[in-house]
Amino acid sequence: MVGHKLAILLVLAHAMFGSAYRWFNWQYEVTCESDAYIAPKDEAGAAKFLREQYSQGSHIKVVGNGHGFGNLTQCVDQTLAKKPTYIVSLTNLKDLSIHKNNMTVTFGAGWDVDDLSQELKANDLSFNNLGVERVQNFVGAASTGTHGSGSAIGNIASQIVGLRVLDAQGNLHVIDEENNAEELKAFRISLGALGLITEVTIKVLPTTRVKKTTKVLNASSNFTQMYSQIAELYKEHDRMTAWGPHFDWNEEKQDWDLEATYFLSYWEPTNYTGASNCTLNYCANGCGDCKKEYICYDEVIDSVSCPPQGVCTREFYAEIEHFFPIEYYAEAAANYTYFQQSQTPRMKAPYNQQMVIQHRTLKGDDTYMSPVNTYNLDPKLSGVFGIIEIDWLQEYDNFTTLWQNQELAYEFLPQFGETYNVRSHWNKMSAPNATYIQERFPKLPEFLAIQERQDPKCQFVNEFLYSQLGISRCADYLS
Ligand SMILES: Cc1cc2nc3c(=O)[nH]c(=O)nc-3n(C[C@H](O)[C@H](O)[C@H](O)COP(=O)(O)OP(=O)(O)OC[C@H]3O[C@@H](n4cnc5c(N)ncnc54)[C@H](O)[C@@H]3O)c2cc1C
Repeated sequence: MVGHKLAILLVLAHAMFGSAYRWFNWQYEVTCESDAYIAPKDEAGAAKFLREQYSQGSHIKVVGNGHGFGNLTQCVDQTLAKKPTYIVSLTNLKDLSIHKNNMTVTFGAGWDVDDLSQELKANDLSFNNLGVERVQNFVGAASTGTHGSGSAIGNIASQIVGLRVLDAQGNLHVIDEENNAEELKAFRISLGALGLITEVTIKVLPTTRVKKTTKVLNASSNFTQMYSQIAELYKEHDRMTAWGPHFDWNEEKQDWDLEATYFLSYWEPTNYTGASNCTLNYCANGCGDCKKEYICYDEVIDSVSCPPQGVCTREFYAEIEHFFPIEYYAEAAANYTYFQQSQTPRMKAPYNQQMVIQHRTLKGDDTYMSPVNTYNLDPKLSGVFGIIEIDWLQEYDNFTTLWQNQELAYEFLPQFGETYNVRSHWNKMSAPNATYIQERFPKLPEFLAIQERQDPKCQFVNEFLYSQLGISRCADYLS
């Protein structure tokens, strides 16, 4: 009976005060309180919602699946907002049409990467490039430049040939290669700043099998030498990921012990017709039997990335991921590792577990806000980027440790950014500095001009976008 009364009270309270919605990212450390979670049933519903909110200038944060390591998806918190503030998800927009005549697929913003991968495979189609995991929403992944590894392949966003996007007034813009190719370079990686993308069209490929070879290598504390060897291997293999070195936290010594071995995988075309078997050992994020030499064959999607069921650990972790011209790779990787080692004495918080340094490559592109944009590259450079990722994994979700490691993560960009022309993955602990961003992203003024057109009242802006991109016209976006 008490429960019944409580329910009535809650309904009344809800009617009086509206329904707040608290947003969390994937590991629950980025959060904000919004007025409501809005999930329109279709594009027209999203446009209507935007039109209604425009007169009040409500804050609107469109999100995918919140799989980021920074506060890109954080809404303006109710406690700061003088206007309504909403989290918007386009998860219900699930239309999909396949055009085999020109090898493109058009689909609504609700599609998650894993579901889309399965749908493509069922139609004998495939992606060329995916991240290690497929837990993201496709538009969410593309909007930050999510990528896999390959010197001759671009990031996920580079597959986009057209899209539909709603501006803050609910007006629809159709952007594609044929009609507004230059604008498409702004919209492929839009950081949620240019409006609600309701639909995208991507280039697809026929399903292709590849051979994945995994090798175990000896680690060395002579990082300069070890990374020089990896750099040579990148010349041999177009598509390769080096997983390591790995370090384990030694509680007694308060130091990182270097594991004796690490491993790398490379992928090659094959005409092998036997069984597909890469999914027998996903080996993502340290899950599976990773440190062993083996060869497997599979459709490219299943050999380079793993579905949610292939992910086994989900403790707090901090991460950086930095892109720089491949020519600097060996020296940069060594200096990143030596810098980390010099900072170890400050890692006093408990529950550190493992530190993994990963290495990948990616083909540069002309998307304005792409971390691998080639606009400021010396023409003598190849246009291929090396990628260093450092993961600080915990054995237990402890905020003190997470914040300690995130603070350290922020320091790598100021330390090495200028030297190696470094750009950070947008959703991974990118230190805020608009001047620096302008240098690495020469097309930022063009991007911001489109941002102003799409969002004249700064409704899509949050603290991350304001401070990272230096959107000075939005200085009083909170009031
Ligand atoms: C465990 C883990 C593993 C990862 N592995 C990789 C990897 O291998 N390679 C890699 O590159 N990255 C990787 N990432 C990073 C991840 O791919 C990106 O952070 C990605 O952006 C997350 O996608 P999401 O759907 O969760 O998007 P969210 O984080 O929810 O959103 C990302 C951005 O997209 C915008 N957005 C979302 N939907 C829309 C829309 N409909 N219209 C306009 N804007 C929109 C948001 O506003 C935000 O700016 C990994 C992240 C995690 C946590």
